[in-house]
Amino acid sequence: MVLDVAPLLRGEVKKIDIDYMLSPEQIDSVSFDDAHVVGVLTDNSGYMRLKLQATLPYHGSCARCLAPVDGVFSLDFERTVTTEGTIDEERLEELEDEYVVIDGHELSVDDTLCEELALSFPFRLLCSESCEGLCPKCGKPRSEGDCGCSTKEINPHFAILANFLTTMMKKTKNNININDKGCIHFLRRCNYGSTKEKSF
Ligand SMILES: [Zn+2]
Ligand SMILES: [Zn+2]
Repeated sequence: MVLDVAPLLRGEVKKIDIDYMLSPEQIDSVSFDDAHVVGVLTDNSGYMRLKLQATLPYHGSCARCLAPVDGVFSLDFERTVTTEGTIDEERLEELEDEYVVIDGHELSVDDTLCEELALSFPFRLLCSESCEGLCPKCGKPRSEGDCGCSTKEINPHFAILANFLTTMMKKTKNNININDKGCIHFLRRCNYGSTKEKSF
């Protein structure tokens, strides 16, 4: 929405009410329904103030368990409104989250609002603060109960060796006792077909 602020600049009115529906663009994987925006632009002897409140229904997914997350985000903000040339550019850059500049006699409410929305909308949505996410092994949401996967963690460096040994032990009928040197001994046996122990 572009607001014509000419009557305010000419001093004909002291305030302009704002009430409209905004269709925001998707942010990452979050989509929005139309947002209801209400607010007011007031003028107090040349000091203009914009106050807005947006109510925005959103649809996304939980960052931990991927379950759908729907909610309503509320955004309140205020800005001082100034005309072009009143404040020099450099200073304006420093104060960009305090000021909105009117282009001629038009104020783009959408631009200001969408910018603020992109900055303040939460990065990560959660279905609940206590969401435990998914089982890293089978992918079942932990909220659906125990999936039966082992929670024993194997050091990833040993996991490859452990898998290899398990496979080899299934292939061989020999009953092998793996102890300190057993792994190496066992690997040698597989490679050389010999049970002769060699020193390392
Ligand atoms: Zn979740
Ligand atoms: Zn599991």
